[in-house]
Amino acid sequence: MKLIPLPAFDDNYLWMVHESGEALVVDPGDAAPVQAALQQVGARLVAILVTHHHRDHTGGVNALREATGAVVHGPASEAIPGPLVPHRSGDIVEALGLHFEVIDVPGHTAGHIAYYCGSPGPGEAPLLFCGDTLFSAGCGRLFEGTPAQMLDSLERLAALPGDTRVCCAHEYTLSNLRFARAVEPGNAPLAAYQVQCEALRTQGLPTLPSTLALEREVNPFLRSRKPAVVQSVATARGADPQDPVAVFAALRQWKNDYR
Ligand code: ZN
Ligand code: FE
Repeated sequence: MKLIPLPAFDDNYLWMVHESGEALVVDPGDAAPVQAALQQVGARLVAILVTHHHRDHTGGVNALREATGAVVHGPASEAIPGPLVPHRSGDIVEALGLHFEVIDVPGHTAGHIAYYCGSPGPGEAPLLFCGDTLFSAGCGRLFEGTPAQMLDSLERLAALPGDTRVCCAHEYTLSNLRFARAVEPGNAPLAAYQVQCEALRTQGLPTLPSTLALEREVNPFLRSRKPAVVQSVATARGADPQDPVAVFAALRQWKNDYR
């Protein structure tokens, strides 16, 4: 099984998985890079997995379906260009012989879902396609959901195995890390990760996939109950340290305002 991030637009990744001449793609905002990659690896597109309705995740769906006949999977409660196999939490999507569990992760959008494959094959770590919910060292903006929903969604993802490969839909890592360092200046693994990611980006390489074990150490949005983060948010933004949702909401707002 091969996993490839296809860069698109300014900072999107369209994730492709291919195996024995068949491929799936997640959140194809644009058809062209997917078509080029299919040709390059010599694979036929059999499935499209969509996490949420935003255009940068769905713009290539129709063209790819028409060109390849791929089956489109997406969230039941969002307007995705159909025909679509609609999914809710707990559904299993089968493609390329892999089984992806659908996880509801409302917050960025109201019906956002993630896809988790616990056993992609012998010696392969689990795979998580989390769209715009979880980013490396960050999380998505709350366009349609509440802070309580997003906190709950992120905690559901954070509970997956530590070696899970986190396939985020955007290369936002460096700017997320600048903010994360402001929140937790004393976090040594975070400082080391920033150095590592800066080196990758200097070489033009993706910082992704990340792993959940790493994200639990460096991502302030997965650490909003940690004393250091609570203290920092309470001091900077005046959030009630006794209220986890208020702390998370203030942390997200702090990131929105951070320059
Ligand atoms: Zn989005
Ligand atoms: Fe996006």
